Amino acid sequence: MDNCLFCKIIKGEIPSSKVYEDEHVLAFKDINPAAPVHVLVVPKLHIDSLEGLNDENVEQVVPIHKAIKEVARIMGISESGYRVIVNCGKEAGQTVFHLHYHVLGGVKMGEKII
Ligand code: AMP
Ligand code: ZN
Repeated sequence: MDNCLFCKIIKGEIPSSKVYEDEHVLAFKDINPAAPVHVLVVPKLHIDSLEGLNDENVEQVVPIHKAIKEVARIMGISESGYRVIVNCGKEAGQTVFHLHYHVLGGVKMGEKII
């Protein structure tokens, strides 16, 4: 996708603070962190959002989840715990339309999600 910010980060056209990378996934620090640890985990394949998952691309979900665990280990929050958020669509506040998982940690979070 030519005009997608995260595709440009994946291609190295825009710099990012990389935390983890494999064949399927890139993880980098959020530019505007909402917690001491705030990492975005994105599939290298462009998918607009969770709503864009289908039979052809749903296999991306497994490496994303493996990468989330790896990111938590690298950032030292596996034991303390972390929250994973996917904003999907306008009312959820999705601003970048390339599927991404927010991994948040390093702070005690409230029980309420919103
Ligand atoms: P969302 O609101 O769920 O679409 O999340 C998009 C996230 O991308 C926000 O938390 C932004 O702070 C983050 N973001 C935007 N531009 C960049 C960038 N160049 N590098 C890292 N994170 C970014
Ligand atoms: Zn993209």
